[in-house]
Amino acid sequence: MLETTESAPVAVVDSHCHIDMPQFDADRDAVVERARQAGVEAMLLVGGVDAEHGHRRALRVAEQLGFPASAGVHPHEARLASEAVYDELKGLAGDRRIVAIGEIGLDFHYDHSPRPAQRQAFRRQLRLAREVGLPVIVHTRDADAETAALLEEEGAADTGGVIHCFTGGHELARRALALGFFVSFSGIVAFPRAELIQEVARTVPLDRLLVETDAPFLAPPPHRGKRNEPAFVVDVARKVAAVRGMAVEAVGAAARANFERLFPSPR
Ligand SMILES: [Zn+2]
Ligand SMILES: [Zn+2]
Repeated sequence: MLETTESAPVAVVDSHCHIDMPQFDADRDAVVERARQAGVEAMLLVGGVDAEHGHRRALRVAEQLGFPASAGVHPHEARLASEAVYDELKGLAGDRRIVAIGEIGLDFHYDHSPRPAQRQAFRRQLRLAREVGLPVIVHTRDADAETAALLEEEGAADTGGVIHCFTGGHELARRALALGFFVSFSGIVAFPRAELIQEVARTVPLDRLLVETDAPFLAPPPHRGKRNEPAFVVDVARKVAAVRGMAVEAVGAAARANFERLFPSPR
């Protein structure tokens, strides 16, 4: 291990990861230990990302590790959404470990599901979140205006939530903040040609800012091309701190406090 100030722990949280995925089956405990060593005090295991019933796997692993989880139908999987799946989500929402509905939203970059199916699943789950009284975790890519419009139309200000892995522009940030939402930055903020995202990261109010890895995806520099893991959220916090001209410790502390406000620990 390198003994440099760069590796000193920074108290922070990973507001969005998928360490329930098979990519972590061989060394999940070591991944969590590395995260703790790096200063990561909490993480949220976000469900539904790669399978019809991915939220069950997220919940199971979250239980084993003692972290909170979320459940929802990802826009990529919107074509698989059915009444049975919504009923299942509603049931899961009663589990004390489930702290949010998500990730839900619109992805017009990949279009893995037809757009009408994405819109319908998004609306339906925004309504479900209001019904069960949980915040939402929103995934949006190349769909800024429509995402903001659907959040506004469906009264998402009532539940609150977060725009995760923010890749949008100022207008999406402005409309999300107006609804009381948080904005979460991933390793993309440190990628080349991320000037607009960095500009948003610089201007989002400190009490609405979150950081995440979205592991195993999107490893930040200097880990690009590798499997991402929650310990690397410190590098995301470092980049956000740099663009804001702040100490990384202050960004970490704000993210921890915001995480606790948005996703209160199970009582
Ligand atoms: Zn996502
Ligand atoms: Zn994700």
